[in-house]
Parts: sequence; C-alpha cells; structure tokens
Amino acid sequence: MKPRSTHYDAVIVGGGHNGLVASFYLAAAGRRVLVVEQRAQAGGLCAPLEFFPGYRGTITNTPSALEPRIFGDMQLEHFGVTFDRPDPTMVFPLADGRSFKGWRDRKRTEADLRLLAPNDVESYFAIIDFFNDFARKLGVSVFDDPPSLAELAAAMRTPDDEAAFAEVFFGNIQDFLDRRLSSPHLKALLASLSMSAGNVAPSTPGSPIGLLRRPLSLMSGHATADDPRRHMVRGSTGLPRGGMGSIAEAMRAAAEARGVEICLETRVERIVTAGERATGVVLSSGDEVTAQTVLSNLNPKTTLLNLLDNPALVPDGLAERLGSLKMAGGAFKLVLALDGLPIHRSATSDTEARQLAACQYRYSPTVEYLEEAHDDYKYGHPSRRPKLLGLTPSVVDPSVAPPGRHLMSVNVWYAPYRLASGAWDAETKAKFAATCIDTIEEFIVNIKDIIVDQVTFSPVDFEREYGLVEGHQLHGDMTPLGMFGNRPTPGLARYRTPVRGLYLCGSGVWPGGTVTGIPGYNAATRVLRDTSGAQDDASTPDVPSAG
Ligand SMILES: Cc1cc2nc3c(=O)[nH]c(=O)nc-3n(C[C@H](O)[C@H](O)[C@H](O)COP(=O)(O)OP(=O)(O)OC[C@H]3O[C@@H](n4cnc5c(N)ncnc54)[C@H](O)[C@@H]3O)c2cc1C
Repeated sequence: MKPRSTHYDAVIVGGGHNGLVASFYLAAAGRRVLVVEQRAQAGGLCAPLEFFPGYRGTITNTPSALEPRIFGDMQLEHFGVTFDRPDPTMVFPLADGRSFKGWRDRKRTEADLRLLAPNDVESYFAIIDFFNDFARKLGVSVFDDPPSLAELAAAMRTPDDEAAFAEVFFGNIQDFLDRRLSSPHLKALLASLSMSAGNVAPSTPGSPIGLLRRPLSLMSGHATADDPRRHMVRGSTGLPRGGMGSIAEAMRAAAEARGVEICLETRVERIVTAGERATGVVLSSGDEVTAQTVLSNLNPKTTLLNLLDNPALVPDGLAERLGSLKMAGGAFKLVLALDGLPIHRSATSDTEARQLAACQYRYSPTVEYLEEAHDDYKYGHPSRRPKLLGLTPSVVDPSVAPPGRHLMSVNVWYAPYRLASGAWDAETKAKFAATCIDTIEEFIVNIKDIIVDQVTFSPVDFEREYGLVEGHQLHGDMTPLGMFGNRPTPGLARYRTPVRGLYLCGSGVWPGGTVTGIPGYNAATRVLRDTSGAQDDASTPDVPSAG
C-alpha cells in the first residue's frame, strides 16, 4: 500500500493495538495521522488470524486488562466489540486431580477457596489487602508519568511501608507466599498469577510485582465496590465475541472514523532525522513521508538502535543501557483444531465439564513446577513440563470454528529464544508441541483423541513475523528492573526520546505489556501536551547528556 500523502502531523511506526490507540487520540485532537504496519492486518498480536480454514483466533487469548477508559473513548462497543462472560472465568487444575475455579461471584470463589485451603482463606484476603494498601501508598497512576524507584522509595513513610517495599521490589513471590500461606495449592495459584511480570520464576527477585498490576490499575481510575479488578483469582472480565481480533478491528475502525490513515503491508525501514529532530520515515516502498512527530509502537531497542538514521543522536550511556536490556523471549503458542469438547479430569458432571471447557485454564500445579519450568528456560531448554494458559473460545462462541469443531489456543511458557542446542525449526517446534500436549493430557483427559490439526509459533517466529525483539511477548520483563521509571530504562520512561519529535508508544514503555492500550494513550497525551500550539520544539527529553 502507498500512503495518500507525503506529509502528516504524526506518523506511527507499527499498527499494534497501542499504535492504534495513540493514533485515535491524536486524530481526535485534530491531527493528521498515518499508521504504518508491516502486516496485512492492524492490531499486532491482537490482529485476527485464520489458523486453519474456518478456525479464527489471535495470538492473544483474552483482554484481561483492557482499560475501560480507552474502551469507552474509542466506543469499541459501537464498533462491534461484545463480550461473552463464561462463569467460572478460570480453572486451575491441581496436583491432586481436583481443580480450583474462579467464579464471577466473589462469595462463590470464597467457598471454593475454603474447600481448597481451609486454613488460608483469611490470609488470602490479607494478601489482597496488602497489595491494595501498597498500591495506595505508592500513589502511582498508570496514566501518569512513572516515578523513579528513588521517588517510590521516598514515598514510604514508616518501617512497615519500607518492609513492604523491600518485600515487593527485592523479595520473591515464593518467600512472600511461604511467609503467609500453608496450602501448596493456593501458593501455586498466586505464584502463577504473579508470573505475569514476564519470563520469571517464583524465586526471581521482584516477582511479587506481578500481583500489583490490578491494584495499581484500580488505584488509577474510578472503581466501584464490586469492581472485578478487586477479585485477584479470577480470569478475564469477558471474552470478546469473534475473538481478540474483534478488538483490533474495532480499534482500527474507531481510528479510521477519526480520519487516521492506515498503510498496511508496508515496513518502516528508517526513521529520518535532521539535526536533533525526527522529520519522518522511509518506507519499504522507498517512499519518504515527513511528519512533525514520529511515534514508535516498536520495542525501544529496535526504535533507537536499529531504525534511526543517525545513531549518534542516542547518547552513549543510554545506547549501552538499551543495548544490554535483556529480552530473551520465552513464549510459545500452540493452537489446536479439535473435533470434540475437551473434558477436564476434575469435571464431576456433564454440566461441569461444559463449564470448565468454556473458561480459561492455567496449568502450573505447584510452585516447584513453575520453578523447574523456568530452570529449563534459563539453561536454554524448552520446559519439560511447561506452564500453560489455554482457552477454547469456540465453546462459548461457536462462530470461531466450523460447526461441531473447537479451537483451543494455548499460551505456553517457557520456550527459550536462544536454545542451548539446535534451532527453532519444524522438528523442535513439533517436539515441544508434543510435550505441551502430554502436559495438557494431565488435566484434559481426551485431548489426544480430539486433535485434528495443530499450528505452533516459537519466539523466533514472533520476532520474524511481528518484530518482537527476541520474541519477548511484553517488549521486556515487567519486574522492578523494567517497571515505573525503569521502563525501558531510566531516562526513556516518559515517552520522549533523545531525538526531538520522536516518541515511544508501545508496550516497552510504562505501564508495560499486555492488551491495555495505556502506553498508546499516555504517549498520545504526552505528544499533545508537547505540541499544542505547534510548540513541538519545546519538547525536552528527560535524558541525561552523553556519557
Ligand atoms: C503468545 C503470546 C500470548 C499473549 N497473550 C496475551 C493475552 O492473552 N492477553 C494479553 O493481554 N496479552 C497477551 N500477550 C501480550 C500482548 O500481546 C502484548 O503485550 C501486546 O499485544 C503488545 O502490544 P503493542 O501494541 O505494544 O505491540 P505489538 O502488538 O507488538 O505491535 C507492534 C506492531 O508493529 C509492527 N511492526 C514491527 N516492526 C515494524 C516495522 N519496521 N514497520 C512497520 N510495522 C512494524 C508489528 O507487525 C506489530 O503489528 C501475549 C503475547 C504473546 C507473544
């Protein structure tokens, strides 16, 4: 595709969901915006895919944290997003053959918790209170420029606050849970939730921060007393009908309705600069487009180390820090076409079998299981017993698979980007897929009888097809090393870069990855503040000087 013009107010490199969100807010403020996306569909990892003829899905499974403010502003419902709300929302198969279920009704979940861990229920609620209190004390909104770690630490006023800070930022989730709980099942469940911080293990310093995400999000907006984000052990608030692709499609439509132009199947090869400022981009077609502002939805490493036509604009110290930022992706995707309903081992009736098939599953039945899965990854081996997050959306939404068939979409950890030996070729992928299916069979009894087709994506595929650096699913881990003012690295956390007029708007900046839209929203807000009244030259990047 070719852009219709050679000059825009803003060009956005990459049409992931964050690029679409940023484009919407800029266009809503009257800017002429071009989004350049290398793939045939906008939406990045949320873009619709046809895995097999008639089976529709996406790389992502659920919008567990899509920001309600953005959903409303973009009128995504008007543009076709509706939700199915299975109940329970999540099933967590246990090591003893039973399973824990996260229900929409808090009381029902509490009853399940009492069966699972009768001595730990009060401690469980104390843990929720701990994270909600701690988020309040940090006083950080996900919509504000993130404070530095030093500023966060300074907000701690009492020895208790300081101890909490040290425990969350420097301690690990295994010790945190050992201090508070006795049930191995409940520890496994909460440890698995905190692994949302990235490619981490229960013993990783800072891993408790994974449980801080919902409390921080709650803190940042208007939350009702029964806001689902208060409910830690439940899954997504809903499954978009037609799959996550419907969110990407609605975002694209919302942006286009505001006049955004989206140029598909076109790569940005270079970000062009003149003096100290960005002036536009060169496309794979060879065309050059000029713009007052360039925003990048790509990993900050790609943006500043690979795409800039003048690398000398990045001060040495910053370039070194960015260069050494660890990515080391570990996510793998297994998609299965099924000719029957997957039956959970723990189901005690047909009704329950259907309920469990309809909701998300998380499989990592003990804390040790998670640690061992990560150990394999650490040493360059695909996990022998991987952590699994799966969903069969066709159970509640038959439109995503042919009649009588099902689509199971499994997010798998860990598949190290860099293997100790060999490469991510068809044989390695097939071998790891077989390991995943053996693991699924531990809790879905009939899985091997109902598979009719399968497709896999390795971290190397994610890098090649979506531009994810080393296949990292979040554009970088979200431990304290890579959160708040450290995301992606000090001096780059506030959306500006050392190149005037060049901004970061993807998951590599605060508040980080998953499908929230917030980095895109925050970056657009920053651009609008910096450029209102054509004051673009007033943009002063908060980057220390060279060296
Ligand atoms: C296997 C897997 C499963 C996941 N599951 C979930 C889930 O269920 N729920 C959830 O919330 N999150 C999930 N995530 C994480 C989530 O997908 C990401 O954090 C999020 O989609 C990142 O959004 P983004 O807009 O910042 O970037 P991206 O989605 O990475 O978009 C970047 C875009 O830039 C394009 N691009 C790259 N280079 C160029 C170039 N040179 N020129 C033009 N375009 C370019 C890419 O094609 C892409 O469209 C998952 C990730 C993976 C890998």
